[in-house]
Amino acid sequence: MVLNDLGNKIASALRSLNAHVVVDEELLDACLKDITNALLASDVAVPLVVRMKKNIVREVDLDNMASGMNAKKVLERAVFKELTALLNGGGDASGTKTSGTKTSGTWTPKKGKRNVVMFVGLQGAGKTTTCTKFAHYYAKKGFKPSLVCADTFRAGAFDQLKQNATKAKIPFYGSYTESDPATIAAAGVKRFEEEKSDLIIVDTSGRHKQEEALFEEMREIASVTEPTMTIFVMDSSIGQSASDQAKAFASTVDVGGVIMTKLDGHAKGGGAISAVSETKAPILFIGTGEHIGELEAFETTSFVSKLLG
Ligand code: GDP
Repeated sequence: MVLNDLGNKIASALRSLNAHVVVDEELLDACLKDITNALLASDVAVPLVVRMKKNIVREVDLDNMASGMNAKKVLERAVFKELTALLNGGGDASGTKTSGTKTSGTWTPKKGKRNVVMFVGLQGAGKTTTCTKFAHYYAKKGFKPSLVCADTFRAGAFDQLKQNATKAKIPFYGSYTESDPATIAAAGVKRFEEEKSDLIIVDTSGRHKQEEALFEEMREIASVTEPTMTIFVMDSSIGQSASDQAKAFASTVDVGGVIMTKLDGHAKGGGAISAVSETKAPILFIGTGEHIGELEAFETTSFVSKLLG
């Protein structure tokens, strides 16, 4: 997986210091260079890499380090902190938002309560597939999920959701005749609230590109369904251009979490990671295949711990 490649390179850069008793400026520079090269090779945006490097250098201040402090440990801690911040959507260890529905990577719906989760993202990102995976994941945890198809733009969207939902035995709602997505979303959410579903998942339309009509539609759906969580679904193979897209979505609706899809592919992933930082929201899950079970919960701290060994 792409993120593992990046982690291995960073871990090996850190390990290279073990051969030395004392870490001097030269060694530190070489190690930081390896780390930044690994990030850049994975397609992480240059300004983010520059900022991470600056933050690390500030923490690992060899000149002013108190005697007895272990420079390697300080460096490891600083790298850990920066990587965690990056994957938590902050991009800056001090910048991760905690307002609104934004969390530190530990969001979870509350059993038996009203949980309405709206999925947003461009067409082809994997929203519809991921909605069913997400429902299936929580059904196995004892929730009573349901799916609402508010995508009236893409022909066949309702059929796709219906087919997936039927296979996964998840109740679904949609319409072949109603063309207003907000009307469908409101009716679907109401129906499943009455049926005491404690995880109502609303799939929205994506279009091919960000356009005002799409953003207006999302605002309307959000205002009638009052989601308790909005998840931005992003294709991990998308390159640096993903950042603008993510920024546009996040400034329209209150994105509280991100799901990165297609991490089973050959994408470098760094473009998507950079885009996550635009949302200031953490990665909650990653998609690792087309199958319904191929969705993995993502917990940043333990992921980075494992990554760095
Ligand atoms: P939507 O337009 O955003 O609703 O996207 P879809 O759910 O229709 O997905 C677009 C394509 O991506 C489909 O062929 C899915 O099977 C595929 N897809 C979605 N998630 C993943 C994933 O994690 N890995 C792989 N390999 N394919 C995925």
